[in-house]
Amino acid sequence: MKTCPICNVESNEIEEHGESLYRKCLICNLLWRDPPHEDSTGYYESVNPTYAINQSKQELYQAVLRKAEKYLSKPGSVLDIGCGVGGFLDIAKDRGWETFGIEPVEQLVEIANSRGHSVKSGVLSTQKKTSSRFDLITYWDVLMLVENPLDEIQRAADLLLDDGLLFLRVRNHKVVRKIDEFWKIAGTQTGFKNPAVFHPFNYETATMKKLFAKNNLEFQIMGGALTSGDAYGVGKKGKWVEYTKRSFGLFSSKVEQMSGNRYIFSPTLETWAKRRIASTG
Ligand SMILES: [Zn+2]
Repeated sequence: MKTCPICNVESNEIEEHGESLYRKCLICNLLWRDPPHEDSTGYYESVNPTYAINQSKQELYQAVLRKAEKYLSKPGSVLDIGCGVGGFLDIAKDRGWETFGIEPVEQLVEIANSRGHSVKSGVLSTQKKTSSRFDLITYWDVLMLVENPLDEIQRAADLLLDDGLLFLRVRNHKVVRKIDEFWKIAGTQTGFKNPAVFHPFNYETATMKKLFAKNNLEFQIMGGALTSGDAYGVGKKGKWVEYTKRSFGLFSSKVEQMSGNRYIFSPTLETWAKRRIASTG
């Protein structure tokens, strides 16, 4: 894949990370693995980090739902893509949302359905067309694994009700790259695993802006709040990870506030989008 799957422009540089070859788009800064796909569902089946991840994201889940409720003026219907066992949907249901999901790992689909959510197996791009539309569609750290990000977001936008909201949390690759560089210099002796992870698709602010603009979406992008603790089991000493993340989180959110969100240092980005509706005025 030589053309950027988001810009469709053939202007990129080759990089190597670990055993894999990557391409970095010089227009939108998307970094993608070439070829992008290897089946990652095996990881979620064998390790199943879902419960630890859900636990660490409780506060983030509540905050996102509060924001959506404020905008919509009440809870509505929510579709969570890659919903796992339904940890986010559980909280949404408690708050009065109608809860739907799509999840590729079959065992997780069963668990999510048994918790009272309406979850289909598979991925968005293979779902049959339906007339269902949603007030809120969410992607919690899922966009790095989809088949085609541009097509994925187009499909999600088509499933939104007129005033519906799209929420995506992604890794901020610009920061992950810095962590990787830093770790290569100073981290190898610390006994921690390299916390910088390279996914099939890696995004930064410019990439997300391009992705939304191409799909005619209005958007807002912020540095994300951090999960608490060490949900992905990266560090050996959880307390150190917790402390570092908290102080880094405080530091980065301060800089973001002061710069009017121009400098985003958080290793995650939280992005909100809604359909751009032609003005009639
Ligand atoms: Zn691009």
